[in-house]
Amino acid sequence: MTNFPKPVRAGGPNYDAAIIGGGPAGASCAVWLARLGFSPVLLEGRDVLGGLCRVNPFLDEWNASLPGMTGAQVADNLALSLRRAGVPVYLSCTVKHVEAADGGFALTGSGLAEPLWASHLVLATGVRARPLAPGMDGVPSGDAAAAAGRWTEGVLTGPGEHVVAQDFRGKRVAVLGGGDNAFENALYALEKGAASVRLYARNVRAQQQFVSKLPGDCVTLGPYSVDARARTVDGRDYDLIMVFYGWEPCVDFADALGLQRSAQGFIATDMRTAQTGCPGVYAIGEVAQRQHPCVVTALADGVAAAKAIQARIEARAR
Ligand SMILES: Cc1cc2nc3c(=O)[nH]c(=O)nc-3n(C[C@H](O)[C@H](O)[C@H](O)COP(=O)(O)OP(=O)(O)OC[C@H]3O[C@@H](n4cnc5c(N)ncnc54)[C@H](O)[C@@H]3O)c2cc1C
Repeated sequence: MTNFPKPVRAGGPNYDAAIIGGGPAGASCAVWLARLGFSPVLLEGRDVLGGLCRVNPFLDEWNASLPGMTGAQVADNLALSLRRAGVPVYLSCTVKHVEAADGGFALTGSGLAEPLWASHLVLATGVRARPLAPGMDGVPSGDAAAAAGRWTEGVLTGPGEHVVAQDFRGKRVAVLGGGDNAFENALYALEKGAASVRLYARNVRAQQQFVSKLPGDCVTLGPYSVDARARTVDGRDYDLIMVFYGWEPCVDFADALGLQRSAQGFIATDMRTAQTGCPGVYAIGEVAQRQHPCVVTALADGVAAAKAIQARIEARAR
């Protein structure tokens, strides 16, 4: 399925576009560029393609064109489309650094024996669940495990297949967060046989359809303190702590480009073309925080960026 082209710099960029991230946004952009006759390359940090779709074991009810299909099946289809379009893909290749170089962009990362060059750069690296962090909710500052987003057993961060893999039966579960994910997953833990579920939220932002289903005596509103190692919240013991603090963009590797970012860190782009403030650099999908991020908007972003790159390449050739 995967080609491994050897990057050789021969007096200029090797690829028309390097796409970082193999979720729906990156896959869509790469497939379109290939079909338009250009030479994209796609780099993905994980050893599988599909991005967040890959960790969604449920039906993808948001996508009107794919009734009855799970997130994992959507991920499989993205991989198939890339293969059929003949896009070279580097898997297990986490891009660590990108910078402007010689009219294009140089990329370095794990799995790249030498820097890879491309005349355009597409950032499609999505988001990661925001972990409990030092100084937050009673977590001591200087806690290295927290700083790295790692905890001991019994603390789950964000939704996905790791939640589904849990055996909730008989467990006392604390859920931290006040958004849709917190309420949905609290309900899920109850449904799957948790002995008790308590949701801690400084404020509630979730949709009423979820809030109304969770019994009011399961919710604690206002400030609270967490000891993740002892697995307590406000001094109360739990078997599992689930953290739903929202999402943060994965863009640290692109700091050298000096891209404009929102207060939450998302990359600012032109909505029509996905072009960032840096000529030749595009940001698509969740990393640019589109209106209602989902598979369909990510796919659409990929197409928009591919067409913008086509227009730029053709304009340069004239
Ligand atoms: C549990 C769950 C259920 C969901 N259900 C649905 C649903 O039913 N329908 C729907 O439409 N949407 C759903 N979504 C949302 C949807 O999955 C996302 O909106 C979509 O995947 C975003 O696509 P993306 O390409 O922007 O980012 P992602 O899918 O996050 O892909 C980004 C990719 O970039 C890679 N990456 C990150 N950093 C680097 C790096 N430095 N180097 C190389 N690669 C890197 C990541 O490994 C990842 O594969 C769900 C999300 C979750 C978590």
